[in-house]
Amino acid sequence: MNRTERLIEFFKNEDMYDEKIFEYINSRTHVYPFDTDPKFFGCYPKVEKGILIDINLIVPETKTLKNFLINVHEYTHAIDLYNELGKPYVEDREKFEKRAEYMERKYIQYSFDSAMKKNEEDKKRKSI
Ligand SMILES: [Zn+2]
Repeated sequence: MNRTERLIEFFKNEDMYDEKIFEYINSRTHVYPFDTDPKFFGCYPKVEKGILIDINLIVPETKTLKNFLINVHEYTHAIDLYNELGKPYVEDREKFEKRAEYMERKYIQYSFDSAMKKNEEDKKRKSI
C-alpha cells in the first residue's frame, strides 16, 4: 500500500473519509524527502481579503511511523480547513492542533490494532 492508500484506509476507519475532499487534498499535497527539515512540513492556508481560498500541504514521504504521523497530522488540518473554504478565515490554532494530535494518537492505536489482528490471523493460518 502506498502513502495515499494508507491514509485513505485510516481515515475511512475513522469515518472521516470523503472522496471529493481527499481528491482536493491530494491535488494540493507536495511530498518532500523524509529527511527534509521538519519546519517545512505543514498545512498552509491561502487567504485573500480575509477569505480562505485554498490549502497547500507539504508532507514527508512515509518511510517511518514518525513521517506517517506528520501526514496524519497535516491531513487532519486539511480536512478541517476544507470545510472552511470560501468562508472568512479565523485561525483557531488550539482547536486544530488538539484535533490533529488526537488523530495522531488514533493512528498509533489503529496501527497497533491492525498489527495484532494480522498476528492473530497468521496464528490461525498456521494452526490449520
Ligand atoms: Zn499542526
